[in-house]
Amino acid sequence: MERREIAGLLAYMGRLDPRTMRTDPGELGDQLDQWQELLGDVPLATEYGWDARNAIRAHVVSSPYPILPVDVARQWSKHSADRLARHTDPVPTADPDDVETWRAELLGTRHAVLAGQRPPNEQRAITSGSTIDPAVEARLRAIGSCIPPHVRQDLAPYRPTKARREQLVAEGLPDVLAVPCGWCGAAVNESCRARRIVPRGGATSHRPMKTAHPSRIEAAAALAYDTSRQESAA
Ligand SMILES: [Zn+2]
Repeated sequence: MERREIAGLLAYMGRLDPRTMRTDPGELGDQLDQWQELLGDVPLATEYGWDARNAIRAHVVSSPYPILPVDVARQWSKHSADRLARHTDPVPTADPDDVETWRAELLGTRHAVLAGQRPPNEQRAITSGSTIDPAVEARLRAIGSCIPPHVRQDLAPYRPTKARREQLVAEGLPDVLAVPCGWCGAAVNESCRARRIVPRGGATSHRPMKTAHPSRIEAAAALAYDTSRQESAA
């Protein structure tokens, strides 16, 4: 609290408990100095449930003794300790390999909770999508996946179907795996399959194809067209 805020608080306190009121300018100055010394680090009010005036009112209604600045300081300590006890460290958005930044973000969040600048993280992020960290959300929107682009590139040879699919989507072509194939019966998310044929005897097994059957590509294009029309109509 700044000196101005302390003065306002003392005036409020004097109205609730006239015993604490100082009228002599010298005494008032001393009282201000004492309160500022003890409550310099305590905020007057935070957006998340703390208000020094409530602490004063609670003391006045519950105690026969005049309130002291330490009473307010103790209530603030209890309030911020309660908040930190309810807080679970969210996973920092910084690169985990950058230990300094990671640690700084973790501690920064805790300090902000302790100082009442942000609400404690009560693990709602896990059960509800609305509290996702804005930085993570922006990153997800930018790359469309939680796998960083360079890692996806490295993995491409080991997941050819997915890589091909991502490439098609990136090029703005229809995503053939979003529809089933009416020709070979491949389900959604599965590649088209070709039959392995041996010279004597019938077909024995299937092998996944790198490309899709033409009828499936047409079906995917039709679906993409319908979706985009619905989106533009909405
Ligand atoms: Zn097919």
